[in-house]
Amino acid sequence: MELISLKDLDLSNKKVIIREDFNVPIDENCNITDNTKIIMCLPTIRYVLSKGASVILLSHLGRPKKNEDLSKYSLKNVAKELEKILNKKIKFIQGNWAEGFSLNAGEIALCENVRFFDGEEKNDENLSKKLARLADVFVMDAFACAHRSHSSTEGITHFIKEKAAGFLLEKEINSLSKILEAPKKPVLAIVGGAKISTKISVLNNLANKVDYLILGGGIANTFLKARGFNIGLSLYEKSFVKMAKNLLQSCNFKADNKKTYNKNAKILLPVDVVVSEREFKDSKGIFVKTDIKAKDVTNVLENDKILDIGDLSIKNYKNYINVSETILWNGPLGVFEDERFANATKKIALSVANSKAFSVVGGGDTIFAMEKFNIKKNISYVSTGGGAFLEFLEGKVLPGVLAVAKK
Ligand code: AMP
Repeated sequence: MELISLKDLDLSNKKVIIREDFNVPIDENCNITDNTKIIMCLPTIRYVLSKGASVILLSHLGRPKKNEDLSKYSLKNVAKELEKILNKKIKFIQGNWAEGFSLNAGEIALCENVRFFDGEEKNDENLSKKLARLADVFVMDAFACAHRSHSSTEGITHFIKEKAAGFLLEKEINSLSKILEAPKKPVLAIVGGAKISTKISVLNNLANKVDYLILGGGIANTFLKARGFNIGLSLYEKSFVKMAKNLLQSCNFKADNKKTYNKNAKILLPVDVVVSEREFKDSKGIFVKTDIKAKDVTNVLENDKILDIGDLSIKNYKNYINVSETILWNGPLGVFEDERFANATKKIALSVANSKAFSVVGGGDTIFAMEKFNIKKNISYVSTGGGAFLEFLEGKVLPGVLAVAKK
């Protein structure tokens, strides 16, 4: 799929809407805690300004719901941050801005959270038309939102005169396509995170494409359950056990022994885990705090909760990392936010960072983990997409990308 290039459009004296992803992390006082997403948008904004256009920036922030205090979803602080970085006045437009507002040549406006409009997430035609009326050109640069058909990501493109892909979107699509279409082999995928339901399609698709598939996190628990292991109180999804079984079988995982490691199978499961035992009342009714223990997967008890994978599994996984030429990673291998269960995510992250492989990481939590362990700079390609990254790996065509592709 070839994208319409921004460089092919004449932008001088035009009004240009750029859909950005300014969905930045904020603290309880709405201060921006990491401005990476804003920085990533600058090449497109600067280019459009340099061509003599005026710029209207659109974005969402968070998931505002009806009857909620909307102030915590305001893009006000993003406007301030942009003003600082660009050293240029940003007009912050609030209220019912989709009805129109004035903007002079060369000016930049940032409109308040587009999700404050009811129609945005419904891809409402009326809203899409109103957005289109604000400008002459639409530029889609929010890869992280490209898997959603919303008014500001897809709907608008049906009503605006000219459209193109921004530089960030172009870079993401080109880099990820190259990696998926002709990766240097062997290819290893590492998939962790909380739930298998959000990643089953990507697992099915990856299983056909990669040489090894390493599993961890809550996802691995469902697979352990599918192998017949006791997983105690661990997070897993009952309705996906059958699918996990099928996937294991299609990956050559014979169901005839009680092992999680199978030399001929491309899926690798943890052989040992770190559990926390549930607190329980002793005979005097006093709560007894229990330990965190490393265990073989065959020894997990009813009161255990698997929260990380163990050292033997990490060692085994590292052997695969060391022989791989391409590594794709989404999802932490344990509850890494808690230092006690961050061991596997940290060790595997370091191992990926130090490996010879071309490494690609995507997903908010995974990127956060890379930052936490200070190895983001050693990853070959960090995608800005979470859901979009996963859907791209699934092989899906993203609607926000299709909308700015050459027909
Ligand atoms: P996801 O957004 O699906 O990538 O999930 C990320 C979340 O998965 C993180 O917040 C982790 O704490 C969580 N997670 C990782 N391993 C486990 C586990 N064994 N049990 C419960 N949650 C987990």
